Amino acid sequence: KVKVTGLTKKYGDNLVLKGIDLSVKNNEVVVVIGPSGSGKSTFLRTLNKLEEPSSGSIIIDDVDIAKKDTDINTVRENIGMVFQHFNLFNNLTVGENIMLAPVQLKKETPEDAAEHAKKLLSMVGLAEKFDAKVQSLSGGQQQRVAIARALAMKPDVMLFDEPTSALDPEMVGDVLAVMKDLAKQGMTMIVVTHEMGFAKEVADRVVFVDDGRILEQGTPEDVFNHPQNARLQDFLNKIL
Ligand code: ATP
Ligand code: MG
Repeated sequence: KVKVTGLTKKYGDNLVLKGIDLSVKNNEVVVVIGPSGSGKSTFLRTLNKLEEPSSGSIIIDDVDIAKKDTDINTVRENIGMVFQHFNLFNNLTVGENIMLAPVQLKKETPEDAAEHAKKLLSMVGLAEKFDAKVQSLSGGQQQRVAIARALAMKPDVMLFDEPTSALDPEMVGDVLAVMKDLAKQGMTMIVVTHEMGFAKEVADRVVFVDDGRILEQGTPEDVFNHPQNARLQDFLNKIL
């Protein structure tokens, strides 16, 4: 489904991704962990071309998105992304936020888009918030709307960049529960998170990134209970 080979990314002279190879299978949930500044966000952002890779290939559903001539809009339609800060449109209602891209980019009728939006809202536990103003929602609710909005495009792959790290602790569980549901439904997911409980429970594979490279990967059991790499051991000692 996703096959990344030899991916590098430079900002000026700063080589941030130093050759990432990662394949993600259909329905697989991959959790990416690693220290601050190791390149986790940059990696996710290259996957939907928010950043231009410096070299390497990124094949998603048989299309090499690292190629300059690939139509980026088609790529983004198939890859949902959820950020730490929800990036919702505050001047629109919850329903309007979710319907915007399907109506504008996929030419769905407003009726179809609204019906789909309502289904997604009930999936994330916010069925009654369709007409609510974004500002009237808590952070956790806004993040669940952001997930619904990404799902409205019917993506093949969902990318999450620390979706719970800006939330008050009591909101974290609701958002993780929605992500767990999605995983159960078979969504292919790449998740950057510090929520090790989520990683242990939901991840098929945990990938440790340090200084722009994947230093170790394996099942949650392998990575958390039998880490081999000294830097992974050190990282786990600091966070657990
Ligand atoms: P965190 O856990 O703090 O979110 P991260 O692993 O997501 O960290 P990145 O945000 O990918 O790390 O950053 C990796 C490196 O790339 C850092 O040294 C950062 O300063 C640099 N970097 C990121 N974005 C840019 C940019 N737009 N321009 C220049 N340098 C950047
Ligand atoms: Mg980051």
